[in-house]
Amino acid sequence: MIIVGAGLAGLVAAYEAEKAGREVVVLDQENRANLGGQAYWSLGGLFYVGSPEQKLMGIHDSEDLAWRDWRNSADYDMSDNDHWPRQWGRAYVHFAATEKRDYLRALGLNVLPTVGWAERGSGNASGHGNSVPRFHLTWGTGPEVVRVFREPLLDAERRGTVRFAFRHRVDELIVEDGAVVGVRGSILAPCDDLGRGVASPRDVVDTFEYRGAAVAVTSGGIGGNLDLVRRSWPTERWGECPTDLVVGVPAHVDGRMIGISTDAGATTVNTDRMWHYTEGMANWDPIWPGHGIRIIPGPSTLWFDAAGRRLPTNIFPGSDNLASLEHIGRTGHCYSWFVLDKTIADKEFIFSGSEQNPDLTDKSLLKLVGKVGPGTHVAVRNFMDHGEDWVIADDLESLVEGMNGLTDDAAPVVDPEELRDQIEDRDSQLDNKFSKDAQVNYLGTARKFLGDKIVRAAKPHKILDPAHGPLIAVRLRIVTRKTLGGIETDLSGRCLRSDGTVLPGLYAAGEVAGFGGGGMHGKNALEGTFLGGCIHSGKRVGEALGAVAAGS
Ligand SMILES: Cc1cc2nc3c(=O)[nH]c(=O)nc-3n(C[C@H](O)[C@H](O)[C@H](O)COP(=O)(O)OP(=O)(O)OC[C@H]3O[C@@H](n4cnc5c(N)ncnc54)[C@H](O)[C@@H]3O)c2cc1C
Repeated sequence: MIIVGAGLAGLVAAYEAEKAGREVVVLDQENRANLGGQAYWSLGGLFYVGSPEQKLMGIHDSEDLAWRDWRNSADYDMSDNDHWPRQWGRAYVHFAATEKRDYLRALGLNVLPTVGWAERGSGNASGHGNSVPRFHLTWGTGPEVVRVFREPLLDAERRGTVRFAFRHRVDELIVEDGAVVGVRGSILAPCDDLGRGVASPRDVVDTFEYRGAAVAVTSGGIGGNLDLVRRSWPTERWGECPTDLVVGVPAHVDGRMIGISTDAGATTVNTDRMWHYTEGMANWDPIWPGHGIRIIPGPSTLWFDAAGRRLPTNIFPGSDNLASLEHIGRTGHCYSWFVLDKTIADKEFIFSGSEQNPDLTDKSLLKLVGKVGPGTHVAVRNFMDHGEDWVIADDLESLVEGMNGLTDDAAPVVDPEELRDQIEDRDSQLDNKFSKDAQVNYLGTARKFLGDKIVRAAKPHKILDPAHGPLIAVRLRIVTRKTLGGIETDLSGRCLRSDGTVLPGLYAAGEVAGFGGGGMHGKNALEGTFLGGCIHSGKRVGEALGAVAAGS
């Protein structure tokens, strides 16, 4: 069996195929240090449904409610492009409500007892969003998600049933008599000393050819290839693609295998569906080119467009990512502003990425207590001190002066009086237990949930109260991340041709297959569903690979 890509989907497929008694070769264009691909960098957020952790937090969830949320978010088309994605979406929700947690626990993966509430919704029960918190954080974040598959695979490598071939870049799928029978490619110059995530040289030193009973493509999405992102950008939904994107994934997320797979006869669907975040900022300490970090905000931060006007009432931090992308895109400016105070940053700001959360990644209870307790987390402090998109000031006038100083002459100027009026309007709503401000009410709802009250939602207070200062503004850029569409596959992960028939010998899993079917999320996503999507689709493909060889 040949697997192209040693990211999470490839590791899971290899693990399952080897478990079924098959010999597996896993090829990757990067060096061994990159084993696990993007998943290593992830926060390890996992979408579980009806988990004991949810029950402990008083959350009543069910597969039925989760599928209702999923369907409403996905808004699948009735046409052929969503035939397989819909079935994959349904199968994934079932997996998340039944098999997923036990499968991962048996491998040694544990999650934190507090459950996060991502994508809280558009404000309409029939629309996008999670009705209840479902984002379970892995104790050990992304590296732990990788570890639980890496360790058994390294054992298999020692036994000789799995072989890793690093710096092997696949350039072509070999097709004979209408079936995919192998791969050809380039051996790239060794770069053993290069650290994980660092862009590697592309010098070719040799070529290779491998043949096998089947080939599985698990090569990830397109988020590191800005040309492809721009070409796929749905201008009619999100406006013009911003000139100033920051990059949320390593350079190896280059999307090249998608074209190589279609050249071999596979078809893609829903390629204009992507998942980029609006709360991005340039990393002060970049690892890969253009490295952007996403702020995962809590409910209190105020959000303004480039001209300093508050975003509409259905768009709060953490409520509906793609609605914010669409709104900001249509303003004609590629950035927006968070305005908050230090109390909110201390309690509510988390940055996505395993390296930004050393407490969770190192599984250090001591560091975790430090994070949850009072004071500014080290990751936030680093951005306050070094972040090029951050402005800190003791008064609003100085804050706005700093904000205007960060943008160029063509950008709109934020008016300090207009901004003050809007913040004072919001602050005035805290004088009663009830309010007309939807975001103040949203904060109240968040604090009814124990998990938010403990770790994510600051006690309501006036942002202009100097006792909670200094004031902070962050210029938010669009940070690229996930690919929601991709290679169309059936429920075993077999790649399909454009006429809907199976392309023999070729399978796909993970982000390259839109996490299954060519876009199981449909048009929107509920978060924490990407790692799980790799695990689910990788597992199905690994099981299918096991069956292929048994019969051949
Ligand atoms: C910072 C960050 C935070 C995230 N947080 C979360 C989270 O909390 N929850 C969640 O659900 N998801 C999260 N994600 C998303 C999730 O990590 C990814 O969607 C997922 O890991 C993708 O895995 P994959 O195996 O499909 O692809 P990848 O991880 O991209 O792996 C693909 C591999 O294929 C190799 N490859 C590509 N082309 C070729 C070729 N031609 N020849 C040989 N090899 C090739 C690449 O080098 C790479 O190693 C996060 C991602 C990032 C970057």
